[in-house]
Amino acid sequence: MTINEQREEQRRLKQMELYRVRSSQTALRYLRRISEWKQHRSELEPFYDILRNVHSEEGSIALRYGMPTIGVHCVMLPLELINAAGAVPVRLCAGNETAFQIGDGIVPKDACPLVKSVIGEASVSCVVHTNECKLTVVPITCDCKRKMAGMLSEYKKVFAIQVPADPKSDDSIRNYKAELYRLKEALERSTGNEITADSLRRAIEKQHDMQYELTRFSELKKSCPSVITGTQSIMIMNSLGYDEITAWTEKLRILNDHLESDGTPAAKANRPRILLTGSPMIFPNIKIPMLIEENGGIVVGDETCSGERALSDPVSVSEPTLDGMMQALANRYLRPCSCPTFINSQKRIYRITRILNENKADGIIYHVLRGCLVYDYEYALIEETANKLQIPVIRLETDYSEEDIEQLRIRIEAFTEVIKFAKKRKEKGE
Ligand code: SF4
Ligand code: SF4
Repeated sequence: MTINEQREEQRRLKQMELYRVRSSQTALRYLRRISEWKQHRSELEPFYDILRNVHSEEGSIALRYGMPTIGVHCVMLPLELINAAGAVPVRLCAGNETAFQIGDGIVPKDACPLVKSVIGEASVSCVVHTNECKLTVVPITCDCKRKMAGMLSEYKKVFAIQVPADPKSDDSIRNYKAELYRLKEALERSTGNEITADSLRRAIEKQHDMQYELTRFSELKKSCPSVITGTQSIMIMNSLGYDEITAWTEKLRILNDHLESDGTPAAKANRPRILLTGSPMIFPNIKIPMLIEENGGIVVGDETCSGERALSDPVSVSEPTLDGMMQALANRYLRPCSCPTFINSQKRIYRITRILNENKADGIIYHVLRGCLVYDYEYALIEETANKLQIPVIRLETDYSEEDIEQLRIRIEAFTEVIKFAKKRKEKGE
């Protein structure tokens, strides 16, 4: 080894150590903080344990379940296909601040923090749940993801999947189905397991069981006063990204039973009820929902793709053959998706309006990850919708650092005060 190579190796080892210590500290800090909330329930612990295990204890998901793992970078990828290959899907979208800082030195300054964090994690090459994935599947959606797929393949085995930009057309469904067949083959090669009509049917059924519990949970979330906080809910949804589906469904069933029998409010009924939407929020980057709920509001709806939006629509199979199920997967993962990387945004507006009504939200907080152009583009449309509905809306742009916490707190406090004032006026009939 030359002196330069030795220096480079020392720098890499130092960076690895720094990453391990800092990322573990951040994850534990957020987990401790939320566990100390008076709304804490012991039934939430199993979900937090998953996050603790992966983000602080370098736990192996593959070892925990004795199954291979497959990394996914988007919610438009059918988890059923991965489960049918006898593998656990692991969501690798990253929310890690330390990895974000490392990635900041590798990718262009204007790239979004999520991509910086993913590349940062890949470059330190000591993240167990990332490293152990037999394959990493990246959808080609926005420009950041496209370039990320290329960069990531320098570190690991990447399978890039083309996502059509117009989910409504039949051609798009046909093309996506062809992509899913390509993915099927790649999964079979990586896991050594054939995906059969039978294994796919069983995987779809498991996903349906999960969606049944998720629907119960979503109904409980609509209660006024709320029985669970939005931050707790975001943590629960994030934890699915690192868990085996049947095990996670059972945890959610226990929590649902508990919430149904013990409806202790998580907040007073008059707290400003917030719908959170915009760029995804990946643990430990949960500063926005935490700030909302520590400063007088309660998050009653989460329309981001890190929340229930990604999981709620069930696969509807009309033909129980392998091809029929592949068709059903292509339909399910493309048509209802309201990701802003698509050309048309009407579906998202419809979904947001529905959540606002059903969850009785008083205001919208629109989260934009700095550099995330697709979500930023859509803010004008959301603002227009909110104005029509006479609902206050605010846009918060941030990244994964904590430097702007005070500034965000001030803006969120002011926003919740505006809502409180508007509510009082409404009560008085003014
Ligand atoms: S924002 Fe869109 S492309 Fe990005 S992970 Fe979510 S659904 Fe996928
Ligand atoms: S959709 Fe936004 S947050 Fe997601 S990868 Fe693209 S730019 Fe980043």
